[in-house]
Amino acid sequence: MPFVDLRSDTVTRPTPGMRQAMIRADVGDDVFGEDPTVNRLQEVVAEMTGKEAALFVPSGTMGNQISINAHTRPGEEIIVERDSHIVNYECGASAMLAGVQLHILEGREGILPVAQVAAAIRPKDVHQPQTRLICLENTHNRAGGVLYPLEEMERMASLARRRGLKMHLDGARLWNASVATGISLKDYARPFDSVMLCFSKGLGAPVGSIVVGDSDFIQQAHYYRKAYGGGMRQAGILAAAALYAIEHHWERLIDDHRRARRLAEALAELPGIHIDLERVQTNILRFEVHPEVMTADALVEQLHQRGVFLLNLGPGKLRAVTHLDVSDADIDYTINVFRELLKK
Ligand SMILES: *Cc1c(COP(=O)(O)O)cnc(C)c1O
Repeated sequence: MPFVDLRSDTVTRPTPGMRQAMIRADVGDDVFGEDPTVNRLQEVVAEMTGKEAALFVPSGTMGNQISINAHTRPGEEIIVERDSHIVNYECGASAMLAGVQLHILEGREGILPVAQVAAAIRPKDVHQPQTRLICLENTHNRAGGVLYPLEEMERMASLARRRGLKMHLDGARLWNASVATGISLKDYARPFDSVMLCFSKGLGAPVGSIVVGDSDFIQQAHYYRKAYGGGMRQAGILAAAALYAIEHHWERLIDDHRRARRLAEALAELPGIHIDLERVQTNILRFEVHPEVMTADALVEQLHQRGVFLLNLGPGKLRAVTHLDVSDADIDYTINVFRELLKK
């Protein structure tokens, strides 16, 4: 039976070519700054994003969290969108570790209107927490892999500059955004003081993310990376996988997007499935199943029995994500299984 794991783009396993690159990697002690492969990865990504420096970190969560800590002081406030990864999937780490207060705004499909952010910035006042940072997410995970328009981010950045705030981008899937729009990483990164990007999502590396910014920021981030337990030794083995991923797995993300689109269009024709095709912009599909046709639990269970794995996000909501280990044939198979289960 086929095995099609559409739960997340984090389930990919390193390809033979990637494993070879890992075996061949030159390594050293990265806590001493002596791992040549980590240093090369940092130089490559700093250059690609047009920033002064970069820092390789074990996870995207750590990358976001050390960035938040580096930009703020305890008691300050950061503006974040309600459905963001930072708010929902990072264990409250910003409060736990940076000691900041989250000012959570309700966006539209992950996008924060600039005027709403402007109104949320606190005045200088002895009673109020001081706003320090605005965090955005591109592509937006929970909104379904949707693209954050560059002009919106640029307008936000000019607001931030006028009001003396910093800007951080959770760009876990900025690789997908860049491939989908043709906008360079440099242009996407320009409005931000810091950007985090993941290698362990669509790019298919086993471990690793990176943060970029100016040298002072990266120096601070380095300090917090050590404090958070993220100092790694011969990490070149992992950096080699990341370099390989950039070279071999970045452009092919367009195939993931095409497959997500094809699956979405097929699902849209099935009775009981509601999917907003406008929102299928990259590799993530979110859709709902009408409980009178089948409950989401039953659908997920029956898909499982046929070797197709999806994520059940709760009441009626399902998610499928395409990635390196999902082929055209897997999508064909998945579409057929859905048709078999629902077309009655
Ligand atoms: C996955 C993800 C992260 C965090 O990455 P981990 O490596 O799982 O910690 C951060 N932001 C977004 C939008 C993500 O999808």
